[in-house]
Amino acid sequence: MIDGNRGRIHIRPSRSVLRAYRQRLGDERDLSARLQALHALPAITRDAVRIPLHVNIGLVDELPFAQASGGEGIGLFRTEFPFLIRESLPVEEEQYPLYRRVLEAFAPKPVTMRTLDVGGDKILSYLPVEEENPSLGCRGIRFTLDHPEIFLMQLRALLRANAGLNNLQLLFPMISKVGEVDEALGLLARAHRELLEEGVATAKARVGVMIEVPSAVYLAEALARRVDFLSIGTNDLTQYLLAVDRNNAEVATPYDSLHPAVINAVRQVIEGAHRQRTPVSVCGEMAGDPASALLLLGMDADSLSMNPTSLARIKWVIRSFTQRRARNCSMKR
Ligand code: PEP
Ligand code: MG
Repeated sequence: MIDGNRGRIHIRPSRSVLRAYRQRLGDERDLSARLQALHALPAITRDAVRIPLHVNIGLVDELPFAQASGGEGIGLFRTEFPFLIRESLPVEEEQYPLYRRVLEAFAPKPVTMRTLDVGGDKILSYLPVEEENPSLGCRGIRFTLDHPEIFLMQLRALLRANAGLNNLQLLFPMISKVGEVDEALGLLARAHRELLEEGVATAKARVGVMIEVPSAVYLAEALARRVDFLSIGTNDLTQYLLAVDRNNAEVATPYDSLHPAVINAVRQVIEGAHRQRTPVSVCGEMAGDPASALLLLGMDADSLSMNPTSLARIKWVIRSFTQRRARNCSMKR
């Protein structure tokens, strides 16, 4: 018997163990049925605070799960996945139908497409980067700004896919300084201008940046002034703030998104962005963890984005709580 929740395997389980697990299976089934009943209802707290819940996906094949989850949009589409499963770089004409399908599937709900976030542990076989320390190397926005021809091709495909739908939100990954955002916005404006000149149907998009590098925490207000929204990537933010590899099982214990430094960083980003009236989403794994989601609600996060499988539980938790109580729980200590 395999207990996937706790990472345990029972070989020839005793009667009492079997009984306990049967009971748990029954409880899980009851909970799933209760969660299913919330499907069409919004995530709204008992004191009437509404917090949109979105989903994270990376492949078109995941669309049915995303749609069935009851999410109010896609908060993170990791566009690198379609690039990673191929053996050559997809050109604009190959990227366009993929983006169009995702945007159409959710229209008019928002779809946040993150531009190519390769490097680190996500290496393209056809564009290898040889680095001693890839996590601190040419990844995310650094890679695309170093390869503007790849970036422009993706931006063109995305803007074309948004024509007539207008539900695209663009998200730039691994931003560590303001200049990167300015440069990326410049290339985005160029892609849009070129399409207009060519007479190709296109539509501008709302733009956001990921806050997942510690320097971006200290720049949150300046970044918020330049874009329409911020999205906190707690997976990388935790890794870089605590100097703990997110993929190394040996350091799974020190990798802690509830470390006070991570919580304070998240709070600081939200406060800085709100001073500029810029909304903040959280799209790292933290948003899909029930206790952490309440903490984020208490810190005034504007929306949460998570794996489709987590959504129903998070909705249930939010509907069972008040923001007032969540604020008390998340007060600075
Ligand atoms: C994150 O870093 O929290 C994030 C959402 O991005 P990814 O997990 O794709 O690095
Ligand atoms: Mg990340």
